[in-house]
Amino acid sequence: MKIIVLVKQVPDTTQVKIDPKTNTLIRQGVPSIINPDDKFALEEGIRIKEKYGGTITILSMGPPQAKDAITEGIAMGADDGILLSDRNFAGADTWATSYSLAMAITKIGEFDIILAGRQATDGDTAQIGPQIAEALKIPQVTYVFNIAINEAEKLLQAKRAMEDGYELIEVPMPCLLTCIKELNEPRYPPISGIQRAVQADIPVWSAADVDADPEKIGLKGSPTIVARSFTPEQVCRGDCIQGACEDVVTQLMNKLHEINILKE
Ligand code: FAD
Repeated sequence: MKIIVLVKQVPDTTQVKIDPKTNTLIRQGVPSIINPDDKFALEEGIRIKEKYGGTITILSMGPPQAKDAITEGIAMGADDGILLSDRNFAGADTWATSYSLAMAITKIGEFDIILAGRQATDGDTAQIGPQIAEALKIPQVTYVFNIAINEAEKLLQAKRAMEDGYELIEVPMPCLLTCIKELNEPRYPPISGIQRAVQADIPVWSAADVDADPEKIGLKGSPTIVARSFTPEQVCRGDCIQGACEDVVTQLMNKLHEINILKE
C-alpha cells in the first residue's frame, strides 16, 4: 500500500495575535505546529501501513521551516517526506496550491491512498483535498471518521460524517480522503522514530522539479484576490440598569420583551 499524507505547517492558533495597525498575523515568535487535522490523517496512514504493509510519504508545501512538520511526521511513523518550496509559489491561493501539490504527487508516481486533513486552522477553507482529487481525477471522500479496506479488490469503504448521521461510501483506490478528529487518536512519536527522523534526508522540490506551469502557480496562477483583510471592530453596547431590585427586574423584563428575547 503506497500512502501519501498531506501535511501543512500552521501557526499555533491559540497563540496567534493580529497586528492592529497592519491587520496581518504577527508570526514573529509564534510557534508552528502540524495542522491538527493532518495528525489524524498521519495516524490513519500509519495504522493502514501497520495492517497492510507499504510506505507513507509526507508531502508539504511551504517555506523551508515546514521541514519541521515533515520531521515530526516521520518521527510518528512515516517513511519519508518531500517539501515543495520555491519563491515562485509565493502568494498562491488554494487553487494554485492544489495544482502545485497535484503536480508533486504526479512526480511521486503511483499511490493507493492520499490522506489529508479536513481543514487547515489558518486558511480554513477545506478546499485543498477536494481540489487535488479533481486535479488528479481520482475519487474523494471528505469528513472521514472510519475506514475499511478490501485490499484484494482495491476498494475502500469510508464513513463520512454528516450533521445528522453518516454516509457509507465505497470508492476504488487510488482515492483521496480528508480526515476528521473522530477517526483516531494520534500517537506520540516514539524515541526510535525521533532518532530516525532527525537523520532523515528531506528533499526540497522546486516548481521546475515538478514541471509546474509558471502561469499556474503562485500569485500569477491564483484567481482569488484578497480585496481587504481586517479584524472586525468589536462593538460592545451595554445598558446599565440601576435602582431598587424590583424596579431593575421589571425594567430588564421590559427590555427583553422589546428586543424579542422574551415573548408573552
Ligand atoms: P485547507 O484546504 O483548509 O486544508 C485542508 C488540508 O489540505 C490540510 O489539512 C492538509 O492536509 C492539506 N494542505 C493544505 N495546505 C497544504 C500545504 N501547503 N501543503 C500540504 N498539504 C496542505 N499563503 C501563504 O503562505 N503565503 C501567501 O502569500 C498566500 N497568499 C494567498 C493569496 C490568496 C489570494 C489566498 C486566497 C490565499 C493565500 N495564501 C497564502 C493561503 C494559501 O492559499 C493557503 O494556505 C493554502 O492554499 C491552503 O489552504 P487552506 O489553508 O485553506 O487549507
